[in-house]
Formats: sequence, C-alpha cells, structure tokens
Amino acid sequence: MEYDIIIIGAGPAGYVAAIRAGQLGMKTALIEKKQVGGMCMNWGCIPTKSIIESARALAKAKSAATFGVTGIEPEKLGLDWTVAKNRAMEIVGKLRGGVESVLKKNGVEVIHGAARINDSGSVTVSNKNLKTKNIFIATGSYPSATGTGLKKELWIQIEKLFELESLPKHLVIYGRGPVSVELAQFFAMAGSKVAIVATKGKFLPGIDNYLEQYVLKILKDQGVKVYFDLEIKGYEKGKLLAGDEKIACDRILNASWRKAVVPPSETEIPLDEEGYIVTNDSFETSIPGIFAIGDVNGRAYLAHVASAQGIWLVNHLKGIRSEFDFKNYPYNLYSTPEIAQIGSTEAQLTEQGILYKISEFPLSANGKAMAEGNTEGRIRILSEDRYGQVMGVQIIAEHATDMIAEAAAFMQIEGTVYDVAQTIHAHPTVSEVFMEAVRNDS
Ligand SMILES: Cc1cc2nc3c(=O)[nH]c(=O)nc-3n(C[C@H](O)[C@H](O)[C@H](O)COP(=O)(O)OP(=O)(O)OC[C@H]3O[C@@H](n4cnc5c(N)ncnc54)[C@H](O)[C@@H]3O)c2cc1C
Repeated sequence: MEYDIIIIGAGPAGYVAAIRAGQLGMKTALIEKKQVGGMCMNWGCIPTKSIIESARALAKAKSAATFGVTGIEPEKLGLDWTVAKNRAMEIVGKLRGGVESVLKKNGVEVIHGAARINDSGSVTVSNKNLKTKNIFIATGSYPSATGTGLKKELWIQIEKLFELESLPKHLVIYGRGPVSVELAQFFAMAGSKVAIVATKGKFLPGIDNYLEQYVLKILKDQGVKVYFDLEIKGYEKGKLLAGDEKIACDRILNASWRKAVVPPSETEIPLDEEGYIVTNDSFETSIPGIFAIGDVNGRAYLAHVASAQGIWLVNHLKGIRSEFDFKNYPYNLYSTPEIAQIGSTEAQLTEQGILYKISEFPLSANGKAMAEGNTEGRIRILSEDRYGQVMGVQIIAEHATDMIAEAAAFMQIEGTVYDVAQTIHAHPTVSEVFMEAVRNDS
C-alpha cells in the first residue's frame, strides 16, 4: 500500500495539512512521537493563553471596585496556580480530542511513534516501512540548547511548566521572543518576582521598534527587569550570576529562541546555517517529493502560519493554485494590554525606500474602551504616501489580537486608508479606532 502523503509531526502544520488532505480524498498518514496538537496545543499557544487569562481575571477583580463592585477585599485576592493550570490542561484535552476526531472523520491514519526518513518515497516508524508519494516534514522547533553550564534542575522546560507544584518566588526567564514577555507578565501578575535575561539577538524579532519600546515600558512598569547582553556565569545561593549582576532566582524558564527539529533521515535534508530546512516557495526541499512546513522551515514561528503553509501545500499538490502570502500575517503578543502587528514595520518600509504616512488614534478617545476601563493603547496604520495603500497596522489594545483580523482582511485585498475610512464600524466598539485613525486622510 502506498500513501499519497506521509506527514511527520502533528502540530498546527501537520494536523491541519492532514485534515485538508483527508478532505480532498488523499490517502494520508500522520506520524506523531508525542501528542497530537504539537507544541502549540499541548504546551504553547493554548495553555499559556489560558493561564494568562487567569492572571487577567485576578487583575480585573482587583480593579472591580472602580466599576462599583462592592464586597471585594483586594488584599485577599490571589491566584490559585493548581486551579489555573488544571483549567489550562482541561482546555488542551478538549481541543486535542476534537482534533483527533476530525482527523478520524477525514480518514487520516494517525500513527504514534518517531519517524525516520529513508528516501523521498519511504518512511520508517516502529520498525515498519511505509511507502508514499510525498513526505511533509512538520516536526517544528524547540528552545535551543541552553549551553550556560547551569544545573539541569534549575531549568523549567516549557513542557514542564504545567507540572510545577507552585509558582517560583523569583523567576528568571531566559529568552527574547513573545513567550518571554507573555510569561513574564503572567508570573508577575500572579505574584512572582520576575526578570528577563535576554538571549543574544533582537528583542522581539520582527516587531516594529515602536512596539518594542512600548513592551519594554510596560514590563518596567510591572517591575519586570530586562537585562541585555549578560553572559551567564553561574548560580550561587539563590542568585543567578550574569555579567556583573546577581539576580535573585529560584528557577529559570527556558524560553530561548527555538531551533528546528529535523527528523533523522538516511537522505541528507538540506539545512541553512541556522539549521532550518531549506525550501523553495512551494515548501519543497531540493529533494523532489520531500517538503517542509511550519517552524521547521524557519520562515515564521507562528502556529497560524504553519497551518496556512500546510493547507496551501496540500491544495498546491492537488492543483488548486494560489500564491502563498509570505508577508501579511498577524504577529500577536498576548501581553497585557495585547499587541498585534501585520504587514511591514517602519524599519522595513524605510529600508525598501517606500515613503509612508502613519495614521494614529489613541484608545483613550474611544467610548467603548473608556466604558470597559481599557483606555491603554493606540492604533497605528502605516500607508504608502501615493495611493494610500495600507502597508502595515499595529495595535495596542485589550483585544488587539482579535482586532488585527480586520487589518488582515483589508490588506488581503490591498485596501487603502480611504477604504478603511469608508467602512462603517458599529458604535460603540473599540474597532472604531480603525476609521478614526484614517478619517483625516480621506
Ligand atoms: C510557550 C509557547 C507559546 C506559544 N504561543 C504561540 C501563540 O500564541 N501563537 C502562535 O502563533 N504561536 C505560538 N507559539 C509558537 C507555536 O507553538 C509554533 O509556531 C507552532 O507550534 C509550530 O507548529 P509546527 O506544526 O510547525 O510544530 P510543532 O507544534 O512543534 O509540532 C511538531 C510536532 O512534530 C513532532 N515530531 C518531531 N519530530 C518527530 C519525529 N521524528 N517523528 C514524529 N513526530 C515528530 C513533535 O512531537 C511535535 O508534536 C508558542 C510557542 C511556545 C513554546
């Protein structure tokens, strides 16, 4: 028996591709060595957002008196970590069960085990050789090795986060990406003292400098100290020795920048200098019939991009043609308040020599935001000077990560600031800030 596609890895790239392939009637096997759902569903996107929501509920309760709620004694409020993490794991379990049943419904054969590639037409799992026309490598990424010489017991690896019995009193987060910021805020809101020791490279890679500065400010306001350019030297009596600093630290959370997880293979899979699988714009490696989708190809490190690549590739193999949009996808930060960005940053527009205009509007002038008590934030719409085409949107707002979908829709159809200004937005809504920002431009 020969499969049309064997997919290695059941994260958002792999399981979404498998479902699509099943829907299109392709004989598909999905091989997973840990849990269906991958990093995102089991330990990443979903459970971290669930615990962040617990911390936000605590913050809301603390400010409830300003809304006229009586009977709340702020000094008695706190976060029950066991309840919060169990709630997160319950959500994960439900979602995983849902995905497993959709895979089954669409005729995808899920095989548990670690896969090895033999050649472009065969894969081995649990000593069984499986034949296939196409292989999708969707094996994701993992925080890079720490290499700091610190004892293993000090580290919290992301999969073990939800096994912690209690929250550390003093936590150091080692990293520089969105996960570092989101979890730093979570732990700080939950009552831990938190510091971020930024690993080498740009803080929040890919984000506009304006947003980066904003994030650093909110972290500072929250008492989270961010250290840059420190070399970790050791650990002594509850202190992390880094550069000339001694940072109070019970545990270190490894949120360091991720590296590709490349499956073992008898055939040499071409990698770039950072270890990601090299693919062309159709996600095919230089070995015909072997493709790489999701984090493992190093094009983006986001679940929705991984899934979009999976769907696009299956469609492509079935002859359903479209161009994959490598540029316009939302980049969300589940900070408090949330931050979302899509399209080009100011730095990218400048680098491309595009003359642009920034149209802004603060949430403090929006009625719904005032009513909700969420006036922190603003929208920034970057448009090219000549025709007003929207080139990028940045939002800081309580629900920025949902609001950015509107920008994704009008950027998909190459909308201009005039289109945005003419779109009737319901009142009162926070989304009115889109048209308010560009009203003067039309
Ligand atoms: C804490 C955290 C929070 C995050 N939050 C967000 C977020 O809010 N939004 C967002 O867009 N992204 C988020 N991410 C990033 C997101 O998780 C990844 O971009 C996404 O999981 C990538 O999907 P993937 O399918 O490429 O890989 P993965 O989800 O990593 O899945 C790869 C799968 O392949 C399996 N595998 C590996 N090797 C083999 C093998 N040889 N045989 C069989 N199976 C194998 C692995 O076990 C794994 O299940 C977060 C990441 C972390 C760590």
